[in-house]
Amino acid sequence: MGGASALRGAGGEDPARRLYGRIGTFLTDQRLDPNPANYAFAYHLLANPDGPLARAVAALTDGGVRLTQRDIETLGCENKPVANPKAIVQKADGLVAQTQMQVEGFEDMVTAIRAETEGFGRDLAASAEAMQRSTGGDIAEIAGITAAMLERVRTAEARLDSATREASELRKKLEEARDNARRDPLTDLPNRRAFEEAYAAQAASGERICMAVCDIDHFKSVNDRFGHAVGDRVLKAIADALSTSCKGHLVARYGGEEFAVLFAGVDLAAARVTLDAARAGVATRQYRLREDDAPLGEVTFSGGLTAATAEDSYQSLFQRADQFLYAAKTAGRNCLRSD
Ligand code: GH3
Ligand code: MG
Ligand code: MG
Repeated sequence: MGGASALRGAGGEDPARRLYGRIGTFLTDQRLDPNPANYAFAYHLLANPDGPLARAVAALTDGGVRLTQRDIETLGCENKPVANPKAIVQKADGLVAQTQMQVEGFEDMVTAIRAETEGFGRDLAASAEAMQRSTGGDIAEIAGITAAMLERVRTAEARLDSATREASELRKKLEEARDNARRDPLTDLPNRRAFEEAYAAQAASGERICMAVCDIDHFKSVNDRFGHAVGDRVLKAIADALSTSCKGHLVARYGGEEFAVLFAGVDLAAARVTLDAARAGVATRQYRLREDDAPLGEVTFSGGLTAATAEDSYQSLFQRADQFLYAAKTAGRNCLRSD
């Protein structure tokens, strides 16, 4: 598409002139005003065609979608990482626009197929009439009409094929967008939204429910001592440890350094054994810095756990689990509290 081709541009002798030309082509292709803000955006994008901004723009314009003025404002000129939530929202916006275009294309195709079918019906009626008229009569006329009918059938089939392909591509993209909206990009765990939906489905099925809320202890101090990037790695490591220990149950990143677990089909005692094994596993593990293997010191989490009763709503259940978490924190951390 225009935007992608303008990212690279054609060869030429003067690099500055070439960049200037590419900026002009990009703005024209994207139908953007050549105002200072758009010019600066295009400059940042095209001066670094392999950078995160270029990747975000490529993801947004994938499939021929043009950038909107709002895209430019939201993306700005900074080199933001593509996997941040804003970029995901941007990508979802792009997908919505793309979906709209595809649905419009699909509608055009269906209209065209309907026109073909009507033509086919007319030909069929004419053919029947010709046959009636011509007992042994005009074979050439019938052959002509039949050939026209065949041609119409083939065209309609090709259009249907292409419509079916587009529809399944569209379904795949929508599924991806749906999955992205329910997944935390850092840990790859289901997010709070997915957790709430899973709870609703489990409550509707009448299956037994236990819920836990876990929070990393003194996590701020990990960030303060080793930096945010190391903090992120610790978050991922704890997400993995919780998922592994609680296999078969839903572990979600609820927010910040907080995880929630939805236990399915087990009683409180069994859920407590599983969660406490996860807690002890994290507490006894020696987390180390990747760079120089230096130990990070103690990394632990606390947890609150509760079993749902018939009277519980999502809010009352979560609130109780959260109160147990608070009790575990005040009891000294690195422990669980439950009903
Ligand atoms: P407590 O034991 O009482 O829970 O203490 P705490 O330090 O864990 O709690 P506090 O709420 O004071 O700090 C939570 C910290 O978690 C602060 C915030 O910067 C950090 N945090 C939240 N989300 C992320 C993240 O995605 N990455 C990193 N590296 N840190 C995060
Ligand atoms: Mg917290
Ligand atoms: Mg904490």
